[in-house]
Amino acid sequence: MIDLNGKVVIVTGGTRGIGLEVVRTFYTSGAKTILFGSKKETVDKALDLLKKEDKIVDGYYPNLNDFDEVSKVVKEINDKYGHIDILINNAGISANKKIEDTTVKEFQDIMNLNVNAMFNMSKAVIPYMKENHGGVILNTSSMVSIYGQPSGVGYPASKFAVNGLTKSLARELAKDNIRVNAVAPGIIKTDMTESLPKEVIEPLIKSIPLGRMGEPKDIANAFLFLASPLASYITGAILQVDGAARN
Ligand code: NAD
Repeated sequence: MIDLNGKVVIVTGGTRGIGLEVVRTFYTSGAKTILFGSKKETVDKALDLLKKEDKIVDGYYPNLNDFDEVSKVVKEINDKYGHIDILINNAGISANKKIEDTTVKEFQDIMNLNVNAMFNMSKAVIPYMKENHGGVILNTSSMVSIYGQPSGVGYPASKFAVNGLTKSLARELAKDNIRVNAVAPGIIKTDMTESLPKEVIEPLIKSIPLGRMGEPKDIANAFLFLASPLASYITGAILQVDGAARN
């Protein structure tokens, strides 16, 4: 059992899917857990659901693309809890349209959330981690960050950038005792994959050597390991959690 008692963790995109399971997992491991979502309604809904499971967590919904807003909320959290130990940059959107059908705005929206928001959150949290003599930043990448994908170029492009950010910040921040890693999920059962048509998803599942889609818990456990002292010599890694899927 990994014990994160006394640690403070922020999880972006924590209202559903992978992020919600990460929130549950870290809470159960003893961490003071704070989830971020895109709007009040979804944050309240997630907090209510967690309360019914006897999990009391805090929730915020800053605009992740507004650095000043993000900074303000991060400061508020640091003032309230005294420190921030772990940041999990998980919020993300995907795409699967062909380039001809993708608008410039759609491409920019993906980069804004999947990459720029990750930069903003990390930039806002790092000074507090430095003040606290260390921390852990974990990013949600994707298996498409290794292989690309045949349609929806913005999504893999953003996840390649996530890997670049992860590896570079790991090198920059190692001297400050801040470890930076990413988890690259394969095909995981969430709303994101629920929206894919049957004819797309079924062949994908068939191609997974472990013979099943991943569960959000599979990813949450990988984050928990990487956040824990068991991973104290791991930084700059992109951990593939995909059942050996090679899409
Ligand atoms: P999801 O759609 O179920 O959840 C996405 C989360 O991101 C939600 O909590 C939502 O509140 C948040 N979000 C969306 N738009 C936002 C915005 N504008 N501002 C702030 N937050 C916003 O998706 P998921 O499958 O749980 O995906 C979570 C992460 O995992 C993403 O980064 C995704 O790219 C990655 N991922 C998912 C899969 C998969 O198969 N589901 C595979 C690889 C990687």
